[in-house]
Amino acid sequence: MTRTDYEVIAIGAGVGGIYQIKRLADLGVKAAVLELAPDLGGTWYWNRYPGARFDSESYTYGYSFSRELLDEWHWKERFSSQPENLRYLNHVADKFDLRRHMQFNSRVVAAEWDEPARLWRLTVRDEKSGGTRELTCRFVIMTLGLLSQPTLPRLEGMDSFKGPSFHTYYWPQEPVELAGKKVAVIGTGATAIQVIGEIADKVGELTVFQRRPNWSAPLNNSPISEAEMADIRRRYDEIFAACARSPGGFEHEPDRRGFYEVSREERIKLWDRLYDSPGFGIWLANFREIFIDEAANAEFSEYVAERIRRRVKDPVVADKLIPKDHGFGIQRVPLETNYFEAYNRPNVKLVDLQETPLTRVTEKGLRTATPEGSRDYEFDIIVYATGFDAITGAFDHIDIRGTGGQTLRDKWRDSCSSFLGMMIHGFPNLLMPAGPQSGSASTNYPRGIETGVNWCTDFLQYARKRGDCRFEPTAEAEARWTAHVVGMYSMMLMRKAKGWFTGYNSNVPGHEEGKVRYFVYNGGAPKYVERINTIAERGYDGVVLESARVETAA
Ligand code: NAP
Repeated sequence: MTRTDYEVIAIGAGVGGIYQIKRLADLGVKAAVLELAPDLGGTWYWNRYPGARFDSESYTYGYSFSRELLDEWHWKERFSSQPENLRYLNHVADKFDLRRHMQFNSRVVAAEWDEPARLWRLTVRDEKSGGTRELTCRFVIMTLGLLSQPTLPRLEGMDSFKGPSFHTYYWPQEPVELAGKKVAVIGTGATAIQVIGEIADKVGELTVFQRRPNWSAPLNNSPISEAEMADIRRRYDEIFAACARSPGGFEHEPDRRGFYEVSREERIKLWDRLYDSPGFGIWLANFREIFIDEAANAEFSEYVAERIRRRVKDPVVADKLIPKDHGFGIQRVPLETNYFEAYNRPNVKLVDLQETPLTRVTEKGLRTATPEGSRDYEFDIIVYATGFDAITGAFDHIDIRGTGGQTLRDKWRDSCSSFLGMMIHGFPNLLMPAGPQSGSASTNYPRGIETGVNWCTDFLQYARKRGDCRFEPTAEAEARWTAHVVGMYSMMLMRKAKGWFTGYNSNVPGHEEGKVRYFVYNGGAPKYVERINTIAERGYDGVVLESARVETAA
């Protein structure tokens, strides 16, 4: 058996990679995390745009694995902001001495399975020097992040604008001077909604280019005092148990009364309370029919539309901000602070791209097509809040080759398939704690990550103890899981959504509307955990393990 540089290599040092390396280090496995950024943090390293913050309650987002960590960290806000989140992840890495296992500026450009040698060969480019090196490992763990491949519009003249322009993911590290500036924001997804609410009163003029509005509701953020934090610390076990019980992995649990069993007055009473409560309650503590019943969804959507009309003074603008092509909650719901009020400011304008589509970027700004011909807008700064090649995008950017030289890009070209969202047939010895079709994407992400990392680590321990050096899920097991995931979409109104949950992205060839990609597991966290644990209890039913003497790296 050929020696390898590492027994395990994880790719990506975000929330998932940090916990994964902690588990491997504790087991004494020779492992490394490769990270293309100059430092750790993943999503919280990159997304430095104003307004970037959790919309999960901070204390449900943090890791649960260490009581000491829980006891010493004080979340200062109910929905903590990016700088604090990054400080937290750095604190975790330093506390558990995890940096020594991390290699930064290391972009994995290719990963090839070597069948005779039973190992992965990784080609790694140094982002500073541009040089490449090869690393080998027995097992590779993809902790790439679900939203780590930003996408830009495909417009003529993208490079011609003379001022600063950037995707929100690449918001500059140094402060951007906004005072007095004419700023364009393209997009009205979760990111744009945070940016717009935050910068509207800080810029000279703000013009928002909206193609389709999104449903959004108040975040209702607030500080967490020392006394409240002490209470949270006392209740951590209870809090995490509640997250584990709820489909979304949050403290919010669905209202289990039937939508039609209660009076309209009762429904309004619940919605009034949820609208003014913090976080995702408005989405996840609502009636379950909202997700599956068109009429129930329409009634609730109209309730939210009315709340928007009350907040936006100009009825024409209010109407433009209300989605007409989908109901509330069938796409990922952004939570907002002062978003709708921003449009009441004299310095904020909304451009409806359905009426006047963007045609190009110019030296001085943006051009739209108008019934009369065209209109040019001049800006100092252009912000692209145009989303991500979600879920499979980060995988597609690595040339991953499995058995017989097949590429993962090709395998997933039309949709994706996996076993439990954690393994892929044809790609042996590869694990994804939070991969496509896993329970993480549609839930409170770190809760799902801990579940996934624990499952993958337990599986590796099981394989290592037996002396197995190769594993691969069977084609049948993968087909069964994928059919299960696809089947659940048919019950959900979400199947009709044009959003990243269904793989839509107008900026990625092949991902334009029309084809649903079955990216997320819709059964909720408890069912997902039950399923993956049952598989483990049955000796990893569906996975073929091959024993041989493994010569681990020295
Ligand atoms: P997104 O939800 O995909 O939104 C992208 C926006 O850009 C949409 O409004 C889209 O319009 C628009 N757009 C894309 N291409 C365009 C083009 N060529 N021309 C004009 N408009 C274009 O992306 P996101 O806002 O970055 O959010 C992605 C996900 O990140 C969220 O759903 C959430 O899961 C996560 N996120 C989380 C937080 C948090 O935790 N607090 C914050 C931000 C983001 P169409 O709808 O018409 O395509």
